[in-house]
Amino acid sequence: MIAANNPQLKSWIEVSPDSDFPIQNLPFGVFTSRENTPRLCSAIGDYVVDLDKMNQLGFFTDLQIPRNIFENRYLNEFIALGKKKTNEVRERISELLDTKNDKWNAKELADHFLYKHEDVQMLMPVKVNDYTDFYSSIEHATNIGTLFRDPENALLPNWRHLPVGYHGRASSIVVSDTPIVRPHGQQIPNDSKQPVFGPSKLLDFELEMGFVVGKSNPLGSPVSTAIAEDHIFGLILFNDWSARDIQKWEYVPLGPFLGKSFASTVAPWVITLEALEPFRVQGPTQEPAVLPYLQYSGMKNFDVHLEVIIQLENGQAKTVSNSNFKYMYWNMAQQLAHHTINGCNLNVGDMCASGTISGPTPDSYGSMLEISWKGTKPVQMPDGSERRFIHDGDTVIMKAHCEKNGIRIGFGDTRGKIHPAKQLDLA
Ligand code: CA
Repeated sequence: MIAANNPQLKSWIEVSPDSDFPIQNLPFGVFTSRENTPRLCSAIGDYVVDLDKMNQLGFFTDLQIPRNIFENRYLNEFIALGKKKTNEVRERISELLDTKNDKWNAKELADHFLYKHEDVQMLMPVKVNDYTDFYSSIEHATNIGTLFRDPENALLPNWRHLPVGYHGRASSIVVSDTPIVRPHGQQIPNDSKQPVFGPSKLLDFELEMGFVVGKSNPLGSPVSTAIAEDHIFGLILFNDWSARDIQKWEYVPLGPFLGKSFASTVAPWVITLEALEPFRVQGPTQEPAVLPYLQYSGMKNFDVHLEVIIQLENGQAKTVSNSNFKYMYWNMAQQLAHHTINGCNLNVGDMCASGTISGPTPDSYGSMLEISWKGTKPVQMPDGSERRFIHDGDTVIMKAHCEKNGIRIGFGDTRGKIHPAKQLDLA
């Protein structure tokens, strides 16, 4: 067992049982505060842990990491040190916060490196240069195929043979709490051949889990499923905003474009693959058998409970989905092996998202398109209004956590409030 994952560990910082950040988590992020430039951090309970300050206090000296590695706008350089080093840092943070370990007098020096969450601003944790979005939930792909094509042949012929994906837009991935502006675009009215232009009327979320590439592969060098997880630094909760009306008109024949590229929202925290070790589960049986380069052994799925909440302007909120990352038909190792099998080089900080994660029942669907069944089954909100898609003023909140043996590992939230479409001056 990884020492930092020991369920017996307890921190000298009090952590409430429903916190996302017990001592067994220790995720990585980037923050800034009134008195500080951006720097790398971890989290424990209600506190952000300033890793640069910890480094200045000499807590990492023997680990021989570059001096200014934590004084950084993004995690990328730290991630590029490799899992051996980044795991050593996580293990050391664990020791420093452990109630049984006071070798470094960390508790006495806590004022130097702990900040209350509400006193800091969390920043986009990773510089994402390339983003790929998969389509790996069989329940989601089946729902979409049923809604838009033929319920008898909901899955296209390739779906069970390869993890379908497309190359997404990296520049518009934003951190939680960034305002989301309703996008404009072309739409095709029902029974019309003539498109119209205007703000999207069918704005939607997609409940997804992303992974951050932690190790580059050179151009021309595929990564096998057996070592694919060595190339994954950690996981990040991901909302892939989608404008369904724009998407519907534009996506044939080359796939998603402006209906997706206006924004995606991520949580501020990357949860290491190591912290998630205790939550591995067997994935679904793949039938028919996949080609040899996609075969894998061991448990490559993760039991992560997922929740989507729509919060109204008046503060009232409703949970519209309870799903789970374990439902994924194609796992991350297969996605990474497939992505690189043609020799494509992935780089540190690249992001790959799972695709919408839907479960088997309507209360576990991962998009409003499915939850409202293309608008035919509106959701009743606490103020008496209905939702088929997302309204201006709504805030979409996603949460994720694993739980086992009394240990709860959370992912931090993704929050995005929808602001009205801008007035365009196209003259
Ligand atoms: Ca997506």
